[in-house]
Amino acid sequence: MRTVGNFIAGRTQPALEGGSLENLNPATGECIARIPDSGPADVDQAVAAAREAFPDWSARPVADRMERLERLAGLIQANAEELAALESEDTGKPRRLAREIDMQRAEANLRFFARAMSQWSSAGHDMGPTGFNYTRREPLGPVALITPWNLPLYLLTWKLGPALVTGNTVVAKPSELTPLTADALARLANEAGLPAGVFNLVHGLGARCGQALVDHPDIKAVSFTGGTVTGRRIAQSTAPRLIKLSLELGGKNPALVFDDADLDRTVAGLLRAGFTNQGQVCLCSSRFLIHESIYEPLVERLVEAVKGLKVGDPEDEDNTQGALISAAHRDKVLGYIDQARQDGGRILCGGEATRPTGRCQDGAFVLPTLIADLPPESRLHREEIFGPVVTLQRFSSEEEAIALANDVDYGLAATVWTEGLSRAHRVAGRLQSGIVWVNNWLVRDLRTPFGGVKASGLGREGGHWSLEFFTEPKNVFING
Ligand code: NAD
Repeated sequence: MRTVGNFIAGRTQPALEGGSLENLNPATGECIARIPDSGPADVDQAVAAAREAFPDWSARPVADRMERLERLAGLIQANAEELAALESEDTGKPRRLAREIDMQRAEANLRFFARAMSQWSSAGHDMGPTGFNYTRREPLGPVALITPWNLPLYLLTWKLGPALVTGNTVVAKPSELTPLTADALARLANEAGLPAGVFNLVHGLGARCGQALVDHPDIKAVSFTGGTVTGRRIAQSTAPRLIKLSLELGGKNPALVFDDADLDRTVAGLLRAGFTNQGQVCLCSSRFLIHESIYEPLVERLVEAVKGLKVGDPEDEDNTQGALISAAHRDKVLGYIDQARQDGGRILCGGEATRPTGRCQDGAFVLPTLIADLPPESRLHREEIFGPVVTLQRFSSEEEAIALANDVDYGLAATVWTEGLSRAHRVAGRLQSGIVWVNNWLVRDLRTPFGGVKASGLGREGGHWSLEFFTEPKNVFING
């Protein structure tokens, strides 16, 4: 069993008060590591290290920071197989997925922001004979990065890249459920030549360690990805200090399938959108809204496709579906399926836990599930389940489809399936959503704005949005 430590000022250490937490592999139920149960004293030490490292790091030439980040990206690439194995053990996701999505993106995130910095410029405003304004973009200081369990290294590097390249120092708090790749990244950070204190890591529970971090008076900004309830709490905690806050929160994403959709492309796309990472991606479509004229044939094909998904041991390269993040989360997902039955819903496939044979028989597995005929007011259409469960609804007009799509608290990522160009533009314009994909899902261009509206978040990440978040503009006027 591994022992994971906090990473503070370039050194790994246990929690100051000595407490630790179990870290389980959800595919087997085994304890695979012990992690520090950090509290305010650990956070204080990590923030002090970040504060101490800030003057030197922020004053370095941009090229120096870019080069070190590129080196860290290269080390992720060189260690991708080992990191993918850790990520898979920690999350229960198929190792293949961890390799093909998580590790590729972790590397790409750091490379992207290192290179984006080379093209970034700040503004100048010429007032003619009166004078000239130029705008500096200054780093903020020590910043907090708080990340969830579904895409651990992917989301940590997505924040770490822009935070570091713009000259900030970092205290990161990964999810207590998935500490392993962050721990590995800390070791690679030393190898990449990040100076001590530039990147610090504290492990522990959200309510204790995470809360102490967001409450710390020396933290100048919080970049958070996780659930909406936690996001609201962090917004309340940080409001009195008036610090910058970026919130990437939950979703209840609709897929709108119109009668002119290309059904082959749509079935393949919906399968990915609904069930990638066992439906545990904030961008997953969890509501399929289907035009009544194609409802029966499309649903028939979907059921067949979903039944074909192979669920089981994440180490088996043939499996596309692994375990959910924990037994508790599995029970929550099963609770929603029970609720669907009580609401009169029809389970078209899945609808229950499954026990793969062999080493995964005690794992947290749920069969991919499609549910039809729920009443419109059912909680299953409105609440984020964050598992392999998709509800189906019919619509008869474009107007009705848009109304159904928008009739939830969330607004993160919608998909639209149609061959009609005008319809695609029209519908995309009317959806209350930070992101709309037409005839595809999860196509990421790291230059584009990423984030949600309504209860799905506040602010945008990606491209210059991230670089702006992690810097403060200062205008300087020079008299003419
Ligand atoms: P969560 O909100 O429970 O936890 C996220 C992180 O916040 C963890 O590190 C946790 O320890 C920490 N935390 C919890 N309470 C805290 C507090 N009071 N103060 C500071 N930190 C605290 O979320 P989760 O269950 O880990 O992740 C699943 C959620 O994340 C889903 O709702 C999903 O939609 C969302 N998510 C959103 C995006 C996005 O980009 N919008 C991406 C991935 C996941």
